[in-house]
Amino acid sequence: TCFSIAIDGPAGSGKSTVARQVAKELGLTYVDTGAMYRAITWKALKQNVDLEDESSVARMSQETDIQLSSENGVDVWVDGIKVTNDIRTPQVTSNVSLIASQARVREILVDKQREIAQKTGVVMDGRDIGTHVLPKANLKIFLTASIEERAQRRHRELTQRGYSVDWDQLKEEIRLRDEKDSVREHSPLRPAEDAIHLDTTGLSIKEVVQAILNLSRT
Ligand code: C5P
Repeated sequence: TCFSIAIDGPAGSGKSTVARQVAKELGLTYVDTGAMYRAITWKALKQNVDLEDESSVARMSQETDIQLSSENGVDVWVDGIKVTNDIRTPQVTSNVSLIASQARVREILVDKQREIAQKTGVVMDGRDIGTHVLPKANLKIFLTASIEERAQRRHRELTQRGYSVDWDQLKEEIRLRDEKDSVREHSPLRPAEDAIHLDTTGLSIKEVVQAILNLSRT
């Protein structure tokens, strides 16, 4: 099996930025599993699939081709359509936890994720990578940060995308999404027993990346 690093953590903990840079430094493929759940959510919304109807969502997922860019680790395609920005809208964000709570969608996406990790070395970020997707990962990191800091990061990100956002509402949304991701029945958000916890509050991206690079060399 190939070398793999699992990075899990709540919304806004900085996973994707950090994971992408670690992958680049180590010459590994970055896999954003959150983008896959977002891609399915985007398509279900677009096709007016009833998001609560698990078998419809599962059937649709089965018939969906999701591609993640191996070049920049950012771009995402659904059935050949580039959806990099479309999967980050507030509408997708507020519905993604519902889709991600469904067992059959998870099975389909987890298979895909394991397939990638079998073919190539990866840095994979998500919620259940260390606990479920890659239980034998060479290194498992659980990233956290204070809710204030995570809301600040998300605020910056959304403002850059041209959305105007209410601070308190944003904090509440993050809290709610983490709660939904943590209490769900299938592969809830939680650290693996052998994960190394990194609190990134007050740390720069560079510092977090360096800490993980150091750990990956021990
Ligand atoms: O990481 P990101 O915030 O883009 O993930 C979006 C959502 O996808 C999460 O809130 C969670 O509901 C779901 N997700 C998941 N398991 C993963 C990755 C993401 O359930 N491995």
